[in-house]
Formats: sequence, structure tokens, C-alpha cells
Amino acid sequence: MGDFLSDKCVYDFLKSASFKDINMKTRGTNNKLIPSREKEELVQYAISLGATDARMISAKDISIENHLAAICKESACENYGLAMSCPPHVSGPSGFRNLLTQFEHALVFKMDVLSEHLFSHQRLDIFRLLHEIASGVQRKAVLMGFSNAKGFAGGSCKMIFCLDQKDCNVVAHGGPCRNPLQARPSMSGFGVNVSKLMETAGWVMNRASSGGGSDNEAMAPVSGLVLIS
Ligand code: SF4
Repeated sequence: MGDFLSDKCVYDFLKSASFKDINMKTRGTNNKLIPSREKEELVQYAISLGATDARMISAKDISIENHLAAICKESACENYGLAMSCPPHVSGPSGFRNLLTQFEHALVFKMDVLSEHLFSHQRLDIFRLLHEIASGVQRKAVLMGFSNAKGFAGGSCKMIFCLDQKDCNVVAHGGPCRNPLQARPSMSGFGVNVSKLMETAGWVMNRASSGGGSDNEAMAPVSGLVLIS
């Protein structure tokens, strides 16, 4: 994973916003356990940002599967290769497995949305909020001293944040991300098994349907993840 959405971006933002004591609050790497009170604070923060629900799980329970990451290419996703946060520009399943060894906890969150909205123009607003919750919880965790926190969302940031741009500034020009404080990498490109993730969090996952049936009120979840230690 490149550092275009790096911890440094988060630090620079926090310092510019006068959170001068952030370094003092950074915890030692030997103390990886998070007190229940702080877990709950992060869960409630995710909900305050717009998540329907959020849970803290063990990072060890995240399932990474190579074939899921391959779907991005095999299904000829229209955003394949367009953004620095999507394959083949990300470190994929092997990189994510390595990353997971550095984390004890993961905050999983979901937004329950009307299934039909995922197939309408509203999907961009839904995925934008998904990214903003992931990046917001990451920032909150950093402020609480979990300086390595990393957020992941769903959907390509090229489609969500740079739709009107010809290209991704990182991929095309080697420049900085245009939206480092909102855009987060998609879990798909790393092979995260989202169905299992939802199951581990204790949620039932209904697949989104493009409709045609009579159940216009069918709900579908979209989810994100923030690694914390
Ligand atoms: S510049 Fe746009 S497309 Fe590229 S990583 Fe940032 S948000 Fe994504």
C-alpha cells in the first residue's frame, strides 16, 4: 500500500487543526489492548457520523481470500486500475495479511441502505459517507493515541471523489491524493471477505438487488473497517 493516504496526512491535518498534543497521546507499541470505555467511544463515534451500527472485533477474525481480490480484475470492474487505492496499485491480500499482524482490533461498521438506492444516482452519496465514516473514525482513533489506525471502505475513490477528474492524481502524475482526508482504500482490492466480516460482527447480510420485484423497501448493508492497535 502506498503512503498517499498515509498516517502523515492524518498527522498534518490534526496538527494544522491545533491538536498540538497528539504526539503526547501516542501510545507505546507494547500496549495494544484497548480499554472497553475507549472501544465504546469509537463505536459511538462511528454511529454519530452516520453508521447504522458498529462493533469492535479481533483483527485475527478478519478473513482475507485471494480469489475475492481477483474479482476486481476478472469482473472487469470499470474502475480497475484507475485509482491508487484500487488494484493493481494496492498491496493486495498478501499486503493486508502482513498489515493485520500489526493490529489487535478492528472497528467494523455498516450502513443499512435501501437496496434500490445502490442502483441509483444516490449510490455516490452513500459511498462518500462510507468513506467519510472510515476516515473520521481513523482520525478519532489517532487523536485518542492509536496513531497507526487505518481506515478502509468500499467502492473506488475515483468514482466517488474524482468522478469529474480525468484521472487519479497519484496514478497519473505521481502527485498527492486530492482527497486524503476522506478517501480510503476499498476492502475489495485486499480480498477482505465482507460477508464473514458482517457475520463476525453479528449482522445478517442481505444481498443488494437491482429490483424488479415488489419489495421496494428491501435493505442492504454497506460496510467499512478501521484497524486499531
Ligand atoms: S486522487 Fe482521487 S482517485 Fe486518486 S487516490 Fe485520491 S481520491 Fe482516489
